[in-house]
Amino acid sequence: MNQWEKNIRRTVPYVPGEQPQEEGIIKLNTNENPYPPSPGVFEAHKNININRFALYPDPAASELVRELENYYGLEKGQVFVGVGSDDVLSLSFLTFFNSKKPILFPDITYSFYPVWADVYRIPYECPPLDENFLICPEDYKRENGGIVIANPNAPTSIGLSCSAIEEIIQANQDVIVIVDEAYVDFGGETVLPLLEQYENLLVVRTYSKSRSLAGMRIGFAMGNKRLIQALTEIKESINSYTMSQEAIRIGAASLKDENYFQDNLNKIVATRERIKGELEQRGFAVLPSQTNFLFARTDKMSGGELFEKLCEKKIYVRHFNGERIRDYLRITVGTDEQMDKLIKAIDDILT
Ligand SMILES: *Cc1c(COP(=O)(O)O)cnc(C)c1O
Repeated sequence: MNQWEKNIRRTVPYVPGEQPQEEGIIKLNTNENPYPPSPGVFEAHKNININRFALYPDPAASELVRELENYYGLEKGQVFVGVGSDDVLSLSFLTFFNSKKPILFPDITYSFYPVWADVYRIPYECPPLDENFLICPEDYKRENGGIVIANPNAPTSIGLSCSAIEEIIQANQDVIVIVDEAYVDFGGETVLPLLEQYENLLVVRTYSKSRSLAGMRIGFAMGNKRLIQALTEIKESINSYTMSQEAIRIGAASLKDENYFQDNLNKIVATRERIKGELEQRGFAVLPSQTNFLFARTDKMSGGELFEKLCEKKIYVRHFNGERIRDYLRITVGTDEQMDKLIKAIDDILT
């Protein structure tokens, strides 16, 4: 080994779902929204002044931050925006998890959490979900350096009630508790009303799933002004201009089409429940979902094999190799037409 190699920071990176570029595939593997962004987004995009691309964007992304504060009824200084919630979460780990004590998150959850913890050298422990894949608030009542909970959780799709999360926050007022609400718009219970009561709570959201804007990379955090200030200082110590002008403008525009937004969510929830029923009729075990995906398994075939067979039919879903979940597939809820093709493919494969 060369001497210089020992100075390299090394880590095992997160592996996102594939983004195959071929035509004609059905892509149900990364929880994107199958419907286009709102009409207001199209309009805002059309009106973007490309001459302004010669200038740096507003480092504070004020237009977007202001619209988010209004939308959620928060005060000035309570919102932080970033390049997708992955950026916001990563900066939050760096900013808030500075204890020598381990941070806590469930054994089965968003698989980026252990990657950020490793890259920032944050010690962590992972209390196991119970046999029904539920988070047990009791497990979070011990010494720790911070907590991060995805609610609804991924890839299990199950949401915890606001009061169950509050139990965790209540018991942990000396550390920062991050609640990652990436999927909450699809029927989960938000902890936003708790912001007034708990100054150590940070709620993180994304435009990638419910707002059909995964490609624009917009995420945000809401919390106490001191938390937001601390996050901003770390961000400004790394990269001043994280959000492009386009993302700022489009993110603000997306918030103004509430009817479109709600219709879109309702369609996805209706499709989700219909397909859950179809899968159950075929003997699948399907966890109760409050997200835009289903986590399902069948006794007739291993998760890995079913995943491969669906790939051969150009239907991409997600399979994880973790011990307790390797027989499950995580299936994004697509359009009704896409989901009907999925069901047909499953029938072809299993009968
Ligand atoms: C998708 C997802 C994110 C990241 O989304 P971005 O596209 O980076 O905004 C964060 N947390 C969870 C639980 C997710 O599923």
